[in-house]
Amino acid sequence: QHLSVSQYLRNHIRTVPDWPAPGVQFRDITPLLQDAKVFRVLIDAFVHRYMDKDMRPDVVAGLDARGFILGSVVAYELNVGFVPIRKKGKLPFTTVEETYELEYGSATVELHTDAVKAGDRVLLIDDLIATGGTMMAGKKLLERQGAIVMEGAAIVDLPELGGSQKLKEGGLSLFTLLDFA
Ligand code: AMP
Repeated sequence: QHLSVSQYLRNHIRTVPDWPAPGVQFRDITPLLQDAKVFRVLIDAFVHRYMDKDMRPDVVAGLDARGFILGSVVAYELNVGFVPIRKKGKLPFTTVEETYELEYGSATVELHTDAVKAGDRVLLIDDLIATGGTMMAGKKLLERQGAIVMEGAAIVDLPELGGSQKLKEGGLSLFTLLDFA
């Protein structure tokens, strides 16, 4: 029977209950990566959207760490560069940083000051949107450097956590492949 790309990909996401903390349903994307055919369907779902002239970014930015896996392959396929947005303390050159609130405590992400140029159209990629805090921090970093975040992309949206709604209200166009309620 007909299986949509979303359904096909969903069937290859593993849910791990109570990890890394009680009550969290962790959506593990590693099964999407380890099967050559599934990995290709996954990456192509992004590439097909961004290969058209009007959707093609100048650069892809990936969020630490699963955003690196997706973002670098998508960038390669689009024939554009890749830049990492990393957790604090990992980037060696001069950086800008953004701190955001987590459920418990806070997190800081960094971007190299020469990673993007003013006016660059950037595609921002991560594996999953929960509260949206990580993607919002990435957007702020890129915009502070004068870049234009043309879209945020992820495999999974968790709409009940309100992150995608908040990001859209903040003016970010979003593209996700599937939802988990
Ligand atoms: P947030 O900043 O709340 O949108 O969280 C997004 C980041 O945390 C992404 O980099 C995800 O990899 C990770 N994350 C948050 N919640 C989950 C979850 N339930 N399953 C898998 N990854 C998650």
